[in-house]
Amino acid sequence: MKYCNRCLYPENHALNIIFDNRGVCSGCRVHEEKYEIDWTAKEKELDALLSQYKGRPGTSYDCVIPVVGTGDDFFVVDLVKNKYGLNPLLVTYNTHFSTKVGVRNLARLITELDCDHMMSTVGPDTIKEICKITLRKFGDMYWHVLAGSQTFPVQVATKLDIPLIIWGVNGWLDQVGMFSHHDRVEMTKKVRKEHAMRGIDAEDLIGISDKVTHKDLQAFTYPSDAQLEKSRVRGLYIGNYVFWDSQKQVENVIEKFGYETHVQERTYNTYESIHCYNNASVHDYVKYLKFGYAKVSDHVARDIRLKRLEKSKGLQLITKYLPVKPKALGVFLDWVGMSEREFMDCVDPFRDSRVWEKTSDGRWSCTGSILSHSIDLQTGHELEVVESRDYKITELLEDQTSFNEYILLGRSFMDVRNYKAVEG
Ligand SMILES: [Zn+2]
Repeated sequence: MKYCNRCLYPENHALNIIFDNRGVCSGCRVHEEKYEIDWTAKEKELDALLSQYKGRPGTSYDCVIPVVGTGDDFFVVDLVKNKYGLNPLLVTYNTHFSTKVGVRNLARLITELDCDHMMSTVGPDTIKEICKITLRKFGDMYWHVLAGSQTFPVQVATKLDIPLIIWGVNGWLDQVGMFSHHDRVEMTKKVRKEHAMRGIDAEDLIGISDKVTHKDLQAFTYPSDAQLEKSRVRGLYIGNYVFWDSQKQVENVIEKFGYETHVQERTYNTYESIHCYNNASVHDYVKYLKFGYAKVSDHVARDIRLKRLEKSKGLQLITKYLPVKPKALGVFLDWVGMSEREFMDCVDPFRDSRVWEKTSDGRWSCTGSILSHSIDLQTGHELEVVESRDYKITELLEDQTSFNEYILLGRSFMDVRNYKAVEG
């Protein structure tokens, strides 16, 4: 297995990665563009683009912004509403996996930015059944979240005749450099299916369980080509127009809006994924069990590229967090009604044989991951650290440690007398 000489990403990255003749990955190369682009010109371009959508007659909303209450969501909504003067409609696909801190941050976003908000909640039994189907068929317990959160905003935009959806950063550009910033890639039906949903569409789940029919999959079914053509919905990524720096963005959001952060089991990043019990835990653990890398690898790669983290320190962080079995797994198994053995039987067939080996006693050994690979820390292609930056941990308004249940629906408004996620 090859690892990037700079950011430590492995060659089996699920979003596809290529290495140049210096052993530096495509994600690192595209990241270098960030230091060359004239961002003032890009912001003017964004201004001109957004102006076309401002105050269109016959509609109250200028754009749709998908949110779950992350720090990046605050950044995007604040920018679009307060800097560029658009009136956004915020939309959320309910993951069913919300944490207390996540519920409060989403309520805080709606309250502080004073925006209208719509949420799509699919029946819990349907979601549990879909989780089981996608686990058994694709070794994936998180498909419904990816599919739902990519679909609901487009459904809303199409139905309400709002021709613009504003997304944050394009992960395929930012992580692996599949596109350049100059490509101005937009979100399309094709991009969604091929990348966001790993080639699996809602129709692929039909016929596997009699509990899940076409009717149950409405929340995951993209509008037809005819509907899309008629409404001409565009999906823009803000990351193509501003220097995307999540850590700095969230620091500002903490300062400006009181965003709460939280420690996580499988990564040192206290800003991202904290809204969801499973994003950086069970879902991420499955990624490790399949490919031998995980979210901590994403965070290390990003911080190295932003010249904030030394490669050796990055390797230490990956070593510390990568194999951690999350406590959240027990909560998930209890919720979905599966044993750990059944769960592992679903994941095992999808282990990448370049990384995982089955030993003679039937156990899996991670022989190909970075943990058992000798990494050259001085290849000459490392970036010098210019500013190390810690992730802040804020004080939580409510104790989260003893709380081990998902919140299906929490509060959507908060003030000083009413900040609790689930109770008065
Ligand atoms: Zn790299």
